[in-house]
Amino acid sequence: MAEASVELFVVGAGPAYTDRLGATGAAYLVRSAATSILLDLGQGSFPRLTAGIDPSALDAILISHLHPDHFIDLVALRHYLRYGLATPRRMRVSGPAGLAGRLDALHAEPGFAAAALDCTDLAEGPQAIGDFVVEARLVTHTAESYAFRVATTGSQRGLVYSGDCGRAADLAPLIHPGDTLLCEVSFGPGPVPAGAQHLDGPAVGELASSTGIREVLLTHLQMGFDRDATIASVRDRFDGPIRIVDPGDRIGL
Ligand SMILES: [Zn+2]
Repeated sequence: MAEASVELFVVGAGPAYTDRLGATGAAYLVRSAATSILLDLGQGSFPRLTAGIDPSALDAILISHLHPDHFIDLVALRHYLRYGLATPRRMRVSGPAGLAGRLDALHAEPGFAAAALDCTDLAEGPQAIGDFVVEARLVTHTAESYAFRVATTGSQRGLVYSGDCGRAADLAPLIHPGDTLLCEVSFGPGPVPAGAQHLDGPAVGELASSTGIREVLLTHLQMGFDRDATIASVRDRFDGPIRIVDPGDRIGL
């Protein structure tokens, strides 16, 4: 049976800060013919999102954790939904507990988020969103950080997105052989400094080879790390396709 066509549009692929021109916070659009979901919406990514889709047409947004480089442009989205459309619309947003309160605090305005965003608390496990089943799993990073597996109903192939993750083994239970792994590689070829809850290339390569990953997409590379050396550090342990993704990339899954 033919697999349904699913595309990943890389909206933003940056880390928390960078000197790389054009890099913006994490934001990944996954869409089938009928359903569009967004994983994270970090700093500066809202304008780029509008280049890929009318944001009001998203079926849902999932936020991996409450670091601003993964959610802060929900403020821009909230304003757009309220003021940028002929008829205001609302958006389903699933994230760690306290997300709406963080947004409200930015404006010191209770109900700021709820004016346009229907925020619900994420929990581990699967949820159906249109054509997709999205499975969330807690990973080591903040007190409540999630990784996601996104797959169309009945499909063997999925996309596993690490969010930010300090322990590669946390991702393994989400991965099915043949999946694509969209994975943070904050510390490039490594090593990860003690206490930093992020990954490096060797950890990603080991994970990919031990779980039967089909293709590795690297992201969230911090400034100062060499791209080629980062890819090589993954390739030492994984012999499938590897690339660093950039904003604007469209990748068939
Ligand atoms: Zn983070």
